[in-house]
Amino acid sequence: MDTLRSNDPTAIMAADKAHVWHHLMQHKPFEGGVDPRIIVEGKGLRVWDIKGRESLDAVSGGVWTVNLGYGRERIANAVRDQLIKLPYFAGASGTIPGAIYAQMLIGHMPGLSRVYFANSGSEANEKGFKMVRQIAHKHYGGKKWKILYRERDYHGTTIGTLAASGQVERAMQYGPYPDGFVMVPHCLEYRKQWDVENYGERAAEAIEEVILREGPDTIGALCLEPITAGGGAIVPPKGYWEKVQEICRKYDILLHIDEVVCGFGRTGTMFGYQHYGIQPDIVTMAKGVASGYAAISACVTTEAVFDKFKDDSDPLGYFRDISTFGGCTSGPAAAIEVLKIMDEEDTLSNVKNTGAYFIDQLQGLADRHAIIGDVRGKGLFAGVELVADRTTKEPLAEKLVGGVVADCAANGVIIGATNRSIPGYNNSLVFAPPLIATKSDIDEIVAAVDGALSRAV
Ligand code: PLP
Repeated sequence: MDTLRSNDPTAIMAADKAHVWHHLMQHKPFEGGVDPRIIVEGKGLRVWDIKGRESLDAVSGGVWTVNLGYGRERIANAVRDQLIKLPYFAGASGTIPGAIYAQMLIGHMPGLSRVYFANSGSEANEKGFKMVRQIAHKHYGGKKWKILYRERDYHGTTIGTLAASGQVERAMQYGPYPDGFVMVPHCLEYRKQWDVENYGERAAEAIEEVILREGPDTIGALCLEPITAGGGAIVPPKGYWEKVQEICRKYDILLHIDEVVCGFGRTGTMFGYQHYGIQPDIVTMAKGVASGYAAISACVTTEAVFDKFKDDSDPLGYFRDISTFGGCTSGPAAAIEVLKIMDEEDTLSNVKNTGAYFIDQLQGLADRHAIIGDVRGKGLFAGVELVADRTTKEPLAEKLVGGVVADCAANGVIIGATNRSIPGYNNSLVFAPPLIATKSDIDEIVAAVDGALSRAV
């Protein structure tokens, strides 16, 4: 068979159509002559597809990962140098980049001290769940084994993490799921569940109600995104996090924060939880760790959690877990450069300033477009909830939301939307541009959305 030439777009697209099973999409349109989108190259916030079209990427590589933008030769060179020296070694051994990176990372996470390497966000979360389960077996007579998760949060694609995900449209048709994962209500005030003054505190109390219903001595951990990302850019209301921490301490429940999206500056602090002055026991991270330049994730814990696995009188007393590719050195080599670049370029300040400007501009759009029901977000993660009617808050039809995304793409700006499938969840536009975005990039994104909303209805 002829070797495919990378400069033959028609052949590449034909090979893609014939053999690649794309993530998160229905393939039927390809049979009707639609071409797959194949991204070839990137620089800064810009990407070019195989047909030579340039786009501004307002979703950091599709799913909020390439935080430092494309074309960072410095990260690529660090990975290359490390691969030549030692690409991989796993099992009980460590590596130099792993040790250096763990120390650098912990420097950004006061109160935490242990880094467990893995490859994806789902896997990092599974590690956290396994730690909680083993702690229950070893230290609570098997009792504290349940894990609480929140409606509209997402924790991953494996059966275990889907069991812990509150985005029902992702989980449907893949069951049955394992026992021991219990949902608590979301905290989105725009879609109010309680008519009270202090909504944040009330939403946290709803977690306590679930704990009391299930029995506090059966619950090992509460796993939450600091700011719900794919479930609709939900920034918890004032008072929520403080109360959540108080509840976890009251019932001896570990607080597991999923920073897969919010980590590494996405919301303006190094980690999302650091906006709220709370102290988690377990923190998981993936996407931004190496900014997409290598596959790496981590599950970070306190020394107290780590200590629970030190009983050497028990042959089963250590954490009996491994990820083969947790031994890849490309991940920590890239991740070290990411932290250095963030420090040198003061990425967090840019996220705070440009992010505030972004939310402001999106709010400005709400004055002109009645289909905008709510604008929310923090730093450079933003969501715009679209409604058919502002008074009833009826969600805008999925087709129309998809039309806005497609219109922006046709005009050179790639944006996202919350997952489609189930009415009520599918109606928010989502933005997470690289953290190096400038105000002029934001103007370009907002102008594209403005035009698309004008044409939408
Ligand atoms: N946690 C959150 C909050 C996510 O948004 C995602 C993915 O989007 C995951 C976990 C799963 O990460 P991965 O796709 O790397 O397994």
